[in-house]
Amino acid sequence: MTTTPEDAFLSDFHEVATIGATDAGGVERQAATPMDMETRNWFKAFAQERGWETGVDGIGNLFARVPLVAGGDGPADVILAGSHLDSQPKGGRFDGAYGVIAALHAAAQIERRVRDGEIAAKYDLVVVDWFNEEGGRFPPSIMGSSVYAGLMDRDQMLQVKDLEGVSVRDALEGIGYLGSDEDPGVPRVDTVRGYAEIHIEQGRILEREGLPLGAVDSSWYTQKLDIEVLGEQSHTGATAMADRHDALVGASHVILLFQEICERFPEETLVSSVGQVTVEPNSPIVVNSRVHLVGDLRANDPQIVKDARDWMLDEFKKVEEKTGLKVVARDFDIRPNRYYPIEGVELQEKVAADRGLDIRRMQTMAGHDSVAMNTATPSVMMFIPSFEGVSHCEREFTSDEDMVTGVQALTDVLVRMLDGALDDVAYPGTPPA
Ligand SMILES: [Zn+2]
Repeated sequence: MTTTPEDAFLSDFHEVATIGATDAGGVERQAATPMDMETRNWFKAFAQERGWETGVDGIGNLFARVPLVAGGDGPADVILAGSHLDSQPKGGRFDGAYGVIAALHAAAQIERRVRDGEIAAKYDLVVVDWFNEEGGRFPPSIMGSSVYAGLMDRDQMLQVKDLEGVSVRDALEGIGYLGSDEDPGVPRVDTVRGYAEIHIEQGRILEREGLPLGAVDSSWYTQKLDIEVLGEQSHTGATAMADRHDALVGASHVILLFQEICERFPEETLVSSVGQVTVEPNSPIVVNSRVHLVGDLRANDPQIVKDARDWMLDEFKKVEEKTGLKVVARDFDIRPNRYYPIEGVELQEKVAADRGLDIRRMQTMAGHDSVAMNTATPSVMMFIPSFEGVSHCEREFTSDEDMVTGVQALTDVLVRMLDGALDDVAYPGTPPA
């Protein structure tokens, strides 16, 4: 019995989904945890079985180089493909992992076809697992690819600590995945001639329209607000109500404002939530003195985010007046709209047409490693459907059929990029006229 490439991919995908599996069908593999290490070990074993050189850089990005170019002086330039193997707490098994495993299998197919003389490649192909895309344990998100692309400072990111006080540096060393940018298995960023990533949509547009593929042409404008609500610690029993300065009450007002703001704009033009809350001292018998929370504002139109942010800051002042608490807000993690090169969008449309598949252009509301990479090299972002548009939860689902279609499309895109399809393309792209 011969295993088809499709079966081999599906079997690996479902095997990796057992690493850190949760009871409700998700995975828990936060960055630089033992479960993240296990998935990374799986990636390394996949590469080493095929004789591909692996390397880890100074922020924990894991690379595997598929040699396609024979001879020459020194290492060839490369096309990079991948995504991330880390997950949110109680995350889905598709977000990120799908793109890495798809890239590994596309690479295996391409290596065989080059060896058999079916196709030629101008570049080597490198598959990457970006460190800490999720940012759940160590904010900000998209950390590994942003450092690689030169958008974030490596030493500063190595010092970021999780809620237990463990630094990125110590966590990476702890799992054996802090490498060096000089590692011969790490491609220098100036040798990268293009980057491709495939990911689940995490929204419901493709499902609603019955399409197997989406070609992402741009990303939304996003920013976070890092907020501290400051009150005073006291006894939940003994303190008179008039004397309480309950930071959690103030934080509750703030959290509701993040929902209310979205109702002030046309539906679906602004999305927002508070994602993280830390309450201190968080004891059942103590009025809380400090609440730290991070709110997220996203829209395609930058002006909407800016207006929303200004409105929030005004409202925070009213919360201060009403409660006598202090609300300190700081702008954090501002990400402008980014445009992918139109040549990469058209390349996806051509690949889909050749396979007789429908595809549409779309935007991404979520951040991705490709958004960072698009500032360093022409980048291609591909979407496949997400069941009911749910993500960052255990219920996340995409069918085997949709996943296989995506692997085939990614393989076709990479074959053309390795043949120079995006050579000399300007990046990032520009807004449509
Ligand atoms: Zn992801």
